[in-house]
Amino acid sequence: MPVASDVIVVGSINADLVIRVPRLPRPGETVSGYNFKVFGGGKGANQALAVARLGGKVRLIGNVGTDDFGAMVIKGLASGGVNVSLVEWIPDVHTGVALIMVDESGENAIATAPGANRHWATRGAPYFRNLFQTCHPHTTVILQLEIPLEIVEAVTAAARDYGLRVILNPAPARALDDELLRRADVITPNRHEASELSRMKITDLESAREAARALLNRGVGCVVVTLGGEGAVIATRAGIFHAAPFEVKAVDCTAAGDAFTGGLAVALSEGLDLFSAVKFANACGAIAVTKEGAQPSMPTRAEVEELLRTQSPPIRRI
Ligand code: ADP
Repeated sequence: MPVASDVIVVGSINADLVIRVPRLPRPGETVSGYNFKVFGGGKGANQALAVARLGGKVRLIGNVGTDDFGAMVIKGLASGGVNVSLVEWIPDVHTGVALIMVDESGENAIATAPGANRHWATRGAPYFRNLFQTCHPHTTVILQLEIPLEIVEAVTAAARDYGLRVILNPAPARALDDELLRRADVITPNRHEASELSRMKITDLESAREAARALLNRGVGCVVVTLGGEGAVIATRAGIFHAAPFEVKAVDCTAAGDAFTGGLAVALSEGLDLFSAVKFANACGAIAVTKEGAQPSMPTRAEVEELLRTQSPPIRRI
């Protein structure tokens, strides 16, 4: 395995509380479910675990409450190989939670409470500048949008100042200003997030290409729009390309994007060129959809290498 440089993920950490129900309840109604499980979740935590499973050296910066959910999710991340020494335990605040109901057809209803994910009082711009100053210049920093935007701004500005690679997964969907976009070397929106960011509706490969082009023109280093079972569109200054998907049997699409962004970070940090890195990330996303859940479905290195050995979907200029 090639030697990877460090990855730092700054983002959310949640406990996902999942009940399987025969059907989703209507307002005011109680539905008796089949079983209840608690999983580690949150885009930051998922992506950190994706990096660790793929063999990357990863530190997660985020917050949990001093409750049982916090202890449980941090234990899961640590045993999965994520360095959690920079996670803060915030007193008198609950760990971020997502209450998830899933019915027999796979349809879900979700309510989230960010809790500790909103508490960054001790870690503003000086904290990140101090940290990044001591990092190897080939470090990759990954962010998403489940933490306050001012933290995302502070982290990207500090990472830029010290020349670290910034991958921004702009999820969940929202508009962002050009100043923030310009600080990202790569952004990895899905179809919905790319529509929201570009204000252009994405319905097919052509509209994805035009939205990716528009985002590139706003100053991002490189745009990779993930298109679920249709692979990904890559927009760079050298042109726009379509990376065809791997063929797999999809059973649960949860966290495919997290596997993709984690995989892209690992591949780039190992020195792969952009196309090879997107192919690697496509394989990671594809494996994630073959398994249920978020963190349990993050692929291992061996699974990705096996898929890369058996399939080689093309990357073509579009
Ligand atoms: P998100 O989970 O953020 O909505 P996507 O659904 O776009 O992200 O999926 C991310 C990546 O995962 C895709 O670009 C693709 O590489 C892979 N992927 C997702 N669904 C499938 C599928 N049905 N078959 C093959 N690959 C898939």
